[in-house]
Order: sequence, then structure tokens, then C-alpha cells
Amino acid sequence: MIDSADDPPSSAAPVRIIAGGDVVTMNARREVLVGGSVVISGDRIIAVGPTAALRRAHSDAAIVDASGCVVTPGMIDAHQHLTGDPLIRSCIPDLLPPGASIFEWAVPVHEAHEPYDDEVAAALSAVEALTSGVTTVVEGGTVAHADRVAKSLEQAGLRAALGVWGWDIDEGPFAAPADEVLDRQREVLDAYPAGGLVEGWVALVGHDLASDELLAGAADLARARDTNMTMHLSPTSSDPESYLARTGRRPVVHLDALGVLGRHLLISHGVHLDDDEVELVLSTGTAIAYCPWAYLRLGQGVGAHGRHAEIVERGGRVALGCDAVNASDSIDILRTAALASGIARDARIDPTRFGAHEVFGLATIAGAEAIGCDDRIGSLEEGKQADIVIHRTDLPGWTPRGDVGLQLVWGTDGRSVRDVFVAGRQVVADGRVTTIDTDALAEVAQERQRALLERAGITVPQVWPHLGAE
Ligand SMILES: [Zn+2]
Repeated sequence: MIDSADDPPSSAAPVRIIAGGDVVTMNARREVLVGGSVVISGDRIIAVGPTAALRRAHSDAAIVDASGCVVTPGMIDAHQHLTGDPLIRSCIPDLLPPGASIFEWAVPVHEAHEPYDDEVAAALSAVEALTSGVTTVVEGGTVAHADRVAKSLEQAGLRAALGVWGWDIDEGPFAAPADEVLDRQREVLDAYPAGGLVEGWVALVGHDLASDELLAGAADLARARDTNMTMHLSPTSSDPESYLARTGRRPVVHLDALGVLGRHLLISHGVHLDDDEVELVLSTGTAIAYCPWAYLRLGQGVGAHGRHAEIVERGGRVALGCDAVNASDSIDILRTAALASGIARDARIDPTRFGAHEVFGLATIAGAEAIGCDDRIGSLEEGKQADIVIHRTDLPGWTPRGDVGLQLVWGTDGRSVRDVFVAGRQVVADGRVTTIDTDALAEVAQERQRALLERAGITVPQVWPHLGAE
């Protein structure tokens, strides 16, 4: 029997109750059920409410004891590079001029990737995401072998939106004419239909690395297939400069003229937007993936130029992202949420707005809305997919307990994650991924890194002299 996403859960599916935790529902009223329960059947949540009543109503259910814990929706990382960087994490030097980390490091490494490298890198990414409570990722548009990546994600049990590398520049890895790039995108959409654990999106590298024909064609394809599209834009001032030189218009204004903007589009970054561009983002319902850790680490001017908080406050669609591991250094959306709030408050010298509760919304239900999935994920409510995180609270950052929103964002991070469920499947238990042999993965990753760097002709410099290796 094949259940579509719209079928009711099978009556034969085992019922489990995640019982006794403080359930942060992120429903419309933002209710927290103290000592409450979430009931799962198959891949769905079938009830959320008081523990005693739900245990009576489901007396045969298996119990997952969450007493003393905090239970939240699975978190959403709307911009994550699953390949390339994971195999060379902490290898790209820290003190490079803008662009060098991409074109002297990331691009050659991607070019040297063999299909198995994509599979291993995606497994590393999935393990890191899941163990920090991230249950959904949107890939950033730089996957070469989508089938191998999807295989890893499905094995790990991570929900994902996945595209394939898309650009039509003159030369570079996976560069091709626009129609060929679009054909590759179609293949991914066909292979991974909307509603699955891994679903296809239209993905472009973006920046100023696509012709107008490719940009417009990609947006048309996303709209025709009722899916979404993602692309990088304006993390620094370099995209505005090159669009102005090429088209006479700023990037978002140019995309509007091409008909690219709309609710199907998730722009990664959008740090350097002027007033007209902000208005277009808002009026078209275009979404933005905001990756503050990367902007800080790479010195991209988010404090002076970023307007993400303003866009949120004016009703815009913003999700959080962790970007590549050589820019954000970890896949942990709670760390990212803290930065998202802190940067906005500091930049505006205003601690009265854009606090922890707002940014935890971006990590969950508002982020789900921004990626077009709030009908399925982002909150703990009856009928939603059972994407659930149990955070342990017997750690110093939770001791003693205070306001749960403050503690989730400011007081702790992904280290508190104990158990994770995605579509009702338990994928993390007691802090460890249950779906992948992580010891074996670590061994393979080290060997693949060595071979990959050798093929790419890259030697990783060590900044401090290393002694005693002989
Ligand atoms: Zn990116």
C-alpha cells in the first residue's frame, strides 16, 4: 500500500506518545503545554494535549518519556550546502579576501567531487543537522549528484528540498547552456516529487552567474511545476555592482523585470538590498534565507546593511540558514537564531524588538511558511508531520529553568537535543543518530577528504606549527 501525503494515517500504524514534556507547540497562539504530550501515528501527529487524557485515549500506545524535557517542532535550515564543504570543514583559511574562499577553494573542491563524495558529504551534513534538532534543510544549489545525495538523506531520515547545480557561465564545474541546465533541473523534479521526504526544487547558484534566459526559465519551471526555486543573491555588495554593470539595474529590480520574483522564490542572503529591493521582496512575497553566522565570519556587512528584521516586521517571509560549514562552521539553527536576533538588536540599538521568541518562530513555523511547507511542518499540531525534537534540560544551560523561549535561543543550542523524530521515524536517540553508522562514516570521511584534496591539488595550510608528527 502506498500512502499519499493526503491520506489519513493508517489505523494499523503503531501509536506512540511523547509524554510529559513542556510542549512548545508554535501553533497560532504559541501555546506551551506544561507536562503535555504529542501523539504520533505513522508519519503524523494525531493529537497534542494534556498527558493524562491522551494516555487514557491511547492506552495501547508506546510511551516515549519526555518528562522534564522541552519538546519543540523540528527546526528548519533554509540554506545548507550538503556537499563540498562538509568534506573540507575547517580547511578553508580564515583570512581570505572576498570571493577567494568560493573560487579558490569551494569551486575546485566541488569540481573534484566523485559521486561517492557527494553521498558521504550529505551523510555528514544529515548527521550534524539531525543531532542539533534540524529536521528540514533546503540545499543551497551546489549539488552535483542529486541521486547520491538523496540516497544519503533518505537513509539518514532528514527532510530536504534538493536541486542540482545550476549555472550557465562560460566555464566552471557543471556549467552548461541554459536549456541543458533546465533539463537537469526537470530530472530532479521528476525523480523527487513534492510531498516526499526529499523533494525536488529548482536550484541555481545565482549571484550574477546565470543568464537572463536561465533565470527566467528557472522561475517559469518552478511555477509550472508548482514547486520552489532557490538561488544566492547579494550577500555582499558584489552582486549589486555586477548587475548594475551588466543590466543597469540592481539585482532584485532586474529579477522583477524578468518575472523571477514571487512566492516560489527563496533568495539566499539578500543582505545588500536598497529600499526599492526591499519593497519588491515584500510586495512579491519573495522569501529570504538569512544566514547571519556566515555574514559575520566572512565580514559581509550584515550589521550595517542587513534588513532581515525589518522585512520580518513588515510581514515578509524569512527563514534561517546555516549555509556552508566553512562559513557557518556548524549546522545548528539555535546558534543561528541567537545571532539573527542579536545582530538586529545591536544594529538598531534597540533591545525592545526582534527577540528570542520571534527568531525561534523563524526557526520553526515562520521558516516553514517561507519555504512553502507550513501546511506540513513547523508546529506541533494535529495533522502535521511528526517532525519533533526532545531537548533534555538536565544540562547547565537549562539550570534553573526560566522562560522556555529565552532558554532555547539564548541559553542553549543544539547540544541539548536528546531525541529527534522525522515523519514519525526516530532518527536520533540519546543524542546519537540511529540511522547511520557514524563511526564508519567518520573513517570514510577522513579518507575521502585526503583523496579529494589530492585530486583538487589543494594543500591545507596549518596556521600554527605542528610538532611531533614524525
Ligand atoms: Zn550558500
